[in-house]
Amino acid sequence: MKSFEWTNPKTIDEAVKLLRVGTPPADIDEAPRPIAGGQDLLTTMKDYTSRPARLVNLKNIRGLDRIVLNARGLTIGALVTLTELEEHAGVRKSFPGLAEAAHSIATPQIRNLGTVGGNLCQRPRCWYFRLEEVNCLKKGGSECYAATGENKYNAIIGGGPSWIVHPSDLAPMLVALGARVNVTGSSGKRVISLDKFFTLPTENIRRENVLQNEEIITEIFVPASPLASRSTYLKFKERESLDFALASVAAAVELAPNRSVRSARIVLGGVAPIPWRVPAAEAYLTGKTLNPDVLAEAGKIALAEAKPLEKNAYKVPLTQTLVRRALAKSAGV
Ligand SMILES: Cc1cc2nc3c(=O)[nH]c(=O)nc-3n(C[C@H](O)[C@H](O)[C@H](O)COP(=O)(O)OP(=O)(O)OC[C@H]3O[C@@H](n4cnc5c(N)ncnc54)[C@H](O)[C@@H]3O)c2cc1C
Repeated sequence: MKSFEWTNPKTIDEAVKLLRVGTPPADIDEAPRPIAGGQDLLTTMKDYTSRPARLVNLKNIRGLDRIVLNARGLTIGALVTLTELEEHAGVRKSFPGLAEAAHSIATPQIRNLGTVGGNLCQRPRCWYFRLEEVNCLKKGGSECYAATGENKYNAIIGGGPSWIVHPSDLAPMLVALGARVNVTGSSGKRVISLDKFFTLPTENIRRENVLQNEEIITEIFVPASPLASRSTYLKFKERESLDFALASVAAAVELAPNRSVRSARIVLGGVAPIPWRVPAAEAYLTGKTLNPDVLAEAGKIALAEAKPLEKNAYKVPLTQTLVRRALAKSAGV
């Protein structure tokens, strides 16, 4: 690990100042970084994927660790831990998919330390990206080795020129629920809809979201909606004990009194460089009564854009199945 300066700001403004450097470093991965639970950042520092000259500890900033639930919706401070989110009685009742997504992450030990803000900003898990000896495209190199190499875990949708998949389990669910993030940086505050937060490799090969280096997520807001109480998160992983998603589906369905679908949200995880919403499948479901044929067709439509690599075609039927099951669970059919 490269040596670094450790700083302990007490306020957001102080943290933003510490993140801002006069002359940006030649390599973006050497810029100062905020650190929350450290469950991802420290591992990327140990394998030199990131080499920040300064860490800005967010844990002493007051007010970022609260969950507030009211008629407008759910406000989650960026420092709320995954355990706190998963165990919150109001979240479990009114946003069950979000509690399920939090519960699906890693191990109790990691969830006790990992925060919601850090989970959304964690770096991809592609083994070429994480391997110290490999200078892949995302690290400033010239090639995505996954494209023709060991690509079992990589993207089947939206890939190229890098085929990473987004690793966060909270992200697909939060996108499905129409969440937005409050961000503070040196130019002030801004609110970003989560469906505009994550970026494809075609937009910025070195980063996975729109945050500037000195910007900090302070809160995540999830609006109350009839969809939220029927939300669900299904994840398929290789190891039951702990693992990232081979594929996952965040689904939410609002039913009319006759039990036809009034509206639906479907967001795929583990298959694309960003949480992948599938509006065509959502539109197909509107007005329909869910039965096995409709569910199977929704699964097919959701994966219509898939272009698997040599070793990950298995993700297509896997994700179709998860779409079917998530919709059925969400609608209670
Ligand atoms: C063995 C293992 C298994 C895991 N399995 C899963 C899994 O199944 N699903 C899953 O979703 N995740 C998984 N994770 C990832 C884990 O959930 C995240 O590492 C954790 O949530 C990150 O939170 P943190 O507070 O520790 O972030 P940190 O490590 O402190 O930070 C992570 C990144 O976010 C940035 N950051 C942190 N907070 C903010 C903020 N408020 N504003 C802006 N940037 C910020 C940091 O600069 C850094 O780049 C796993 C991790 C490990 C080690």
